[in-house]
Amino acid sequence: MLSCAPVRRFRLFLFAFFLFAFYSSAWPQKTRVVTDTGEKKTARYFESIRTQPLLLHAFLQQMPKGADLHIHLSGAVYAESYVKWAAQDGLCIDRITLAFSDPPCDMKDKPPASSALLDAAFYERALDTLSMRQGSRNGESGHDHFFAVFSKVSAVADRHTPEMLAEARSRAAQGHLLYLELMFNPDRGAAASLGASLGWNDDLSKMRDQLLSGGLSQIISDAARSLDEAEKKENEEMHCDQPQPDPGCAVTVRYLYQVSRGLKKEMVFPQILAGFEMAAKDRRVVGLNLVMPEDNYLSIHDFNLHMQMLDFLHSIYPKVHITLHAGELTPQLVPPEELFHVRASIERGHAQRIGHGVDVMREHDPFELLKKMATEGILVEVCLTSNDVILEVRGARHPLPIYLKFGVPVTLATDDPGVARADITQEYERAAETYNLSYLELKKFARASLAYSFLAGEGLREADRNSVCGQENPLAGKVSAACARLLAASEKARMQWELEKAVAAFEGKF
Ligand SMILES: [Zn+2]
Repeated sequence: MLSCAPVRRFRLFLFAFFLFAFYSSAWPQKTRVVTDTGEKKTARYFESIRTQPLLLHAFLQQMPKGADLHIHLSGAVYAESYVKWAAQDGLCIDRITLAFSDPPCDMKDKPPASSALLDAAFYERALDTLSMRQGSRNGESGHDHFFAVFSKVSAVADRHTPEMLAEARSRAAQGHLLYLELMFNPDRGAAASLGASLGWNDDLSKMRDQLLSGGLSQIISDAARSLDEAEKKENEEMHCDQPQPDPGCAVTVRYLYQVSRGLKKEMVFPQILAGFEMAAKDRRVVGLNLVMPEDNYLSIHDFNLHMQMLDFLHSIYPKVHITLHAGELTPQLVPPEELFHVRASIERGHAQRIGHGVDVMREHDPFELLKKMATEGILVEVCLTSNDVILEVRGARHPLPIYLKFGVPVTLATDDPGVARADITQEYERAAETYNLSYLELKKFARASLAYSFLAGEGLREADRNSVCGQENPLAGKVSAACARLLAASEKARMQWELEKAVAAFEGKF
């Protein structure tokens, strides 16, 4: 039988050769090995530094994070910028409340905002009052201190949309984000004012007709034009057409029409209608969201009516995307029977995503609700810093681990990073440190942010190796014909592919 040994060796060689030939020619299989190696090394490095906050910060700052899907434009700006712009504009600042207002100023109670730049103590007080820089003060709750900022800065914010967009985009680039869905009101309150003048009609269909023929169509086309101008100035501000553009120029921005839900019903409906109309007609506006404190009197009192408005308009504009602030509530803020907004926003408001979702475990049949969210793919935009400073919900009191346990899609978002003095990296740090999450779990947040974005087109299925493009090497410089077709046809898939490239490059460093 000795003579059989060379034959066996030859057969073994042939088998190994065919195995090698098969895997070498099966390009996707080959790339799988390369990607996994980078991912595993990166995950190992992450575990080695996870208890060292500064190294963890540096790692997470560099980590590609996809999108921030929950960020308000006026809350994204730091107080320093508001004070600077108010001074440039010749606005006044109230010595007591620190609110900006139009001139004329006086030197006693309402001096020019420029005086805050020359008085160190006054300046510090302005920054503290117009953000959570030193937390809340004078017995004021974090909730009240936080929300009070928006009316104080509105006089200056109304004049600086381009600069605000530039600041948000530039900071997003620093945090290695590719995409923002920014909430703001492109018509600057014109739809709400029109509603106040035309009044309420119990017949929503008639009210829609009255609004569209009574000036709302004009308001919507004006809003699109002012968005054109704002984006043009923003790009100039960031030198996007110059040889050395601001890194923020590479960040893609889309908008969510922001509806102020705390106003009277005759002012809320026209805003929701304007949001649907703009999202249906202008590709830059990808959906709408209802904002303002969810525990405000009218937010609570008219909540069911707001869901009815969304339900009615959704039947007319079924393709328009809806994401809703829901469950940004605690038993301290509202009576327990008011803790039902997550479920109602999904079932009656047609929300495809939920902002915050903090009260989920206090809602009716929470386990059934969690399963429903997982099955229907309702993503939660988790805002850890915001929930901490506004609601005082943090650590084990936050439902993030429960959402993960039940397979509900989740991503991390900043909400109002300027007011909260935070950024997207801080959100990832908080998640990693508080909930002991792994690199792979954090990477899932980044991928989910784009998979559940409202960008147009079919997406790459999250982390699904069997999908089109799923087994391609993002750094290979070429893709299969099927993958190329998908990328050409879908804005969402292209953005996801950019993330895959960034992730592969990032993981290649470890
Ligand atoms: Zn928000």
